[in-house]
Amino acid sequence: MQVLRQSQLFQHCSRYGNYVALDSNCLFCKIITEDIPAHIVLRNENVVAFNDINPQAPTHVLIVPTLHVENAAALAKVSPTLTADLFLAAAQIAQTNGLTGYRTVFNTGEEAGQSVFHAHLHLLGGRGLAWPPG
Ligand code: 5GP
Ligand code: ZN
Repeated sequence: MQVLRQSQLFQHCSRYGNYVALDSNCLFCKIITEDIPAHIVLRNENVVAFNDINPQAPTHVLIVPTLHVENAAALAKVSPTLTADLFLAAAQIAQTNGLTGYRTVFNTGEEAGQSVFHAHLHLLGGRGLAWPPG
Protein backbone atom coordinates (compact mmCIF):
# COMPACT_ATOMS: atom_id res chain seq x y z
CA MET A 1 0.00 0.00 0.00
CA GLN A 2 1.52 3.33 -1.05
CA VAL A 3 2.01 5.81 1.77
CA LEU A 4 1.82 9.44 0.76
CA ARG A 5 4.01 11.72 2.89
CA GLN A 6 2.81 15.21 3.67
CA SER A 7 4.86 17.00 0.99
CA GLN A 8 3.53 14.57 -1.62
CA LEU A 9 -0.01 14.96 -0.40
CA PHE A 10 0.14 18.71 -0.93
CA GLN A 11 0.95 18.16 -4.60
CA HIS A 12 -1.49 15.29 -4.82
CA CYS A 13 -4.34 17.50 -3.60
CA SER A 14 -3.27 20.69 -5.38
CA ARG A 15 -6.24 20.38 -7.72
CA TYR A 16 -8.39 21.60 -4.82
CA GLY A 17 -6.97 25.11 -5.23
CA ASN A 18 -5.61 27.06 -2.30
CA TYR A 19 -6.59 24.59 0.40
CA VAL A 20 -3.70 23.16 2.34
CA ALA A 21 -3.96 19.41 2.02
CA LEU A 22 -2.92 18.37 5.51
CA ASP A 23 -2.49 19.88 8.95
CA SER A 24 0.52 18.54 10.84
CA ASN A 25 -1.35 19.05 14.14
CA CYS A 26 -4.35 16.95 13.09
CA LEU A 27 -4.81 13.39 14.36
CA PHE A 28 -6.54 12.15 11.20
CA CYS A 29 -3.96 13.77 8.91
CA LYS A 30 -1.32 11.80 10.83
CA ILE A 31 -3.35 8.61 10.31
CA ILE A 32 -3.56 9.41 6.56
CA THR A 33 0.24 9.66 6.40
CA GLU A 34 0.57 6.60 8.68
CA ASP A 35 2.55 8.65 11.20
CA ILE A 36 -0.05 7.40 13.70
CA PRO A 37 -1.11 3.75 13.30
CA ALA A 38 -4.67 2.69 12.56
CA HIS A 39 -6.34 -0.37 11.07
CA ILE A 40 -6.92 0.91 7.53
CA VAL A 41 -9.68 -0.94 5.66
CA LEU A 42 -9.75 1.10 2.44
CA ARG A 43 -7.44 3.60 0.81
CA ASN A 44 -7.63 5.27 -2.57
CA GLU A 45 -6.54 8.58 -4.05
CA ASN A 46 -9.27 10.56 -2.30
CA VAL A 47 -10.31 8.62 0.79
CA VAL A 48 -8.82 6.72 3.74
CA ALA A 49 -11.05 4.53 5.94
CA PHE A 50 -9.98 3.00 9.26
CA ASN A 51 -11.57 1.30 12.25
CA ASP A 52 -12.68 3.60 15.07
CA ILE A 53 -10.51 3.13 18.16
CA ASN A 54 -13.66 3.09 20.36
CA PRO A 55 -16.20 1.16 18.27
CA GLN A 56 -19.90 1.71 18.93
CA ALA A 57 -21.01 -1.22 16.73
CA PRO A 58 -19.41 -4.40 15.31
CA THR A 59 -18.55 -2.33 12.23
CA HIS A 60 -17.47 1.22 13.08
CA VAL A 61 -15.30 2.73 10.41
CA LEU A 62 -14.22 6.37 10.00
CA ILE A 63 -13.99 7.52 6.39
CA VAL A 64 -11.91 10.66 5.83
CA PRO A 65 -10.93 12.73 2.79
CA THR A 66 -7.20 12.98 2.07
CA LEU A 67 -7.62 16.71 2.50
CA HIS A 68 -7.78 18.59 5.78
CA VAL A 69 -11.12 20.37 6.14
CA GLU A 70 -12.93 20.94 9.42
CA ASN A 71 -16.33 19.41 8.80
CA ALA A 72 -18.79 18.06 6.26
CA ALA A 73 -20.12 21.45 5.18
CA ALA A 74 -16.60 22.73 4.49
CA LEU A 75 -15.87 19.56 2.54
CA ALA A 76 -19.03 19.90 0.44
CA LYS A 77 -18.06 23.49 -0.33
CA VAL A 78 -14.54 22.51 -1.45
CA SER A 79 -15.54 19.42 -3.40
CA PRO A 80 -18.98 17.83 -3.81
CA THR A 81 -17.37 14.91 -5.61
CA LEU A 82 -14.98 14.25 -2.72
CA THR A 83 -17.98 14.34 -0.38
CA ALA A 84 -19.67 11.74 -2.56
CA ASP A 85 -16.50 9.63 -2.50
CA LEU A 86 -16.94 9.19 1.27
CA PHE A 87 -20.45 7.74 0.76
CA LEU A 88 -19.28 5.50 -2.07
CA ALA A 89 -16.50 4.19 0.19
CA ALA A 90 -19.09 3.55 2.93
CA ALA A 91 -21.22 1.50 0.53
CA GLN A 92 -18.16 -0.47 -0.60
CA ILE A 93 -17.05 -1.24 2.96
CA ALA A 94 -20.61 -2.18 3.97
CA GLN A 95 -20.80 -4.61 1.07
CA THR A 96 -17.39 -6.09 1.93
CA ASN A 97 -18.57 -6.59 5.53
CA GLY A 98 -21.86 -8.15 4.40
CA LEU A 99 -23.98 -5.44 6.02
CA THR A 100 -27.61 -5.42 4.89
CA GLY A 101 -28.18 -2.05 6.55
CA TYR A 102 -25.92 0.57 8.01
CA ARG A 103 -25.83 4.14 9.31
CA THR A 104 -23.62 6.99 8.09
CA VAL A 105 -23.14 10.01 10.36
CA PHE A 106 -21.26 13.31 10.26
CA ASN A 107 -21.06 15.03 13.65
CA THR A 108 -20.62 18.78 13.19
CA GLY A 109 -19.57 20.92 16.14
CA GLU A 110 -18.86 20.04 19.76
CA GLU A 111 -22.55 20.15 20.70
CA ALA A 112 -23.21 17.35 18.22
CA GLY A 113 -20.28 15.31 19.54
CA GLN A 114 -17.56 16.24 17.07
CA SER A 115 -14.19 15.76 18.75
CA VAL A 116 -11.82 15.58 15.76
CA PHE A 117 -11.99 18.56 13.42
CA HIS A 118 -11.05 16.79 10.20
CA ALA A 119 -14.27 15.87 8.34
CA HIS A 120 -15.10 12.19 8.83
CA LEU A 121 -18.03 10.00 8.00
CA HIS A 122 -18.88 7.39 10.62
CA LEU A 123 -20.03 4.06 9.16
CA LEU A 124 -21.90 1.98 11.77
CA GLY A 125 -23.43 -1.45 11.31
CA GLY A 126 -23.57 -5.06 12.34
CA ARG A 127 -26.24 -4.60 15.03
CA GLY A 128 -29.71 -3.07 15.28
CA LEU A 129 -29.45 0.71 15.53
CA ALA A 130 -32.03 2.66 17.51
CA TRP A 131 -33.75 5.82 16.32
CA PRO A 132 -33.80 8.60 17.43
CA PRO A 133 -30.09 8.68 18.22
CA GLY A 134 -28.89 9.83 21.63
P1 5GP B 1 -16.31 12.55 16.36
O1 5GP B 1 -16.57 12.48 17.86
O2 5GP B 1 -15.39 13.71 16.04
O3 5GP B 1 -17.53 12.51 15.49
O4 5GP B 1 -15.54 11.22 16.00
C1 5GP B 1 -14.20 11.05 16.29
C2 5GP B 1 -13.97 9.57 16.40
O5 5GP B 1 -12.57 9.34 16.35
C3 5GP B 1 -14.46 8.94 17.69
O6 5GP B 1 -15.47 7.97 17.42
C4 5GP B 1 -13.21 8.35 18.33
O7 5GP B 1 -13.45 7.10 18.95
C5 5GP B 1 -12.28 8.23 17.16
N1 5GP B 1 -10.87 8.34 17.51
C6 5GP B 1 -10.31 9.24 18.36
N2 5GP B 1 -8.98 9.06 18.40
C7 5GP B 1 -8.71 8.04 17.56
C8 5GP B 1 -7.47 7.38 17.19
O8 5GP B 1 -6.38 7.72 17.63
N3 5GP B 1 -7.57 6.36 16.30
C9 5GP B 1 -8.77 5.96 15.78
N4 5GP B 1 -8.75 4.92 14.93
N5 5GP B 1 -9.94 6.55 16.11
C10 5GP B 1 -9.89 7.58 16.99
ZN1 ZN C 1 -6.65 16.67 9.21
